[in-house]
Amino acid sequence: MSELNLVLMGPPGAGKGTQAERLVDDFDLPYYATGDILRAAVKDGSELGREARGYMDRGELVPDDLICRVIMERIDSEEAADGFLLDGFPRTVAQALVLEEALDGRGRSLTAALLIYAPDDEVIRRLSGRRICVKNGHVYHVEFDPPKNEGVCDQDGSRLIQRDDDKPETIKKRLGVYHEQTEPLIEYYDDKGLLRRFDGTRAPDEVHGHIRATLATLKLEAEL
Ligand SMILES: [Zn+2]
Repeated sequence: MSELNLVLMGPPGAGKGTQAERLVDDFDLPYYATGDILRAAVKDGSELGREARGYMDRGELVPDDLICRVIMERIDSEEAADGFLLDGFPRTVAQALVLEEALDGRGRSLTAALLIYAPDDEVIRRLSGRRICVKNGHVYHVEFDPPKNEGVCDQDGSRLIQRDDDKPETIKKRLGVYHEQTEPLIEYYDDKGLLRRFDGTRAPDEVHGHIRATLATLKLEAEL
């Protein structure tokens, strides 16, 4: 039996979301974006969700161990029997250790950690060019997908704005946090021989082709 137990890593704006969608289709894997899973658990009011909510209501970080238990609930379900694609967890080496122990306790382990990398200036260029229309949230990019008239939505004529999240200062802060937390994690997975790197500055189709080929090989190797 060959499982594809995958972790997806990379800075914001490197194209993780796009690639995740395609991989889920290719390999029929459930996709677990940590933020979504936590929010769903809180909304469902499950025991773990209520526990997580307590921390959130107090404005505290949800502890690694609790996030991991919420994720493991999904990983233990039938849909993840042949593998899963995790996004947003682990972000730190401490979280990676918690996950590793939880998987180990079930006789499972990660197959690979997929890193889609892009240099900071490229990430800033991609994200800071985004413009959103105030009326319906239509998305444009000043460089890659500009509207016909600058600052005006093609579809409804409303004004285009740059969200605070897309301002260069905010992006730089997020990148700072990303580097601080995730560089050690990248090294950790590299040392374990689990890391696979993909150049996020390439065209999405090309990145997808590389990841697909890599995973197909890993699957084959696991079946031998
Ligand atoms: Zn619009």
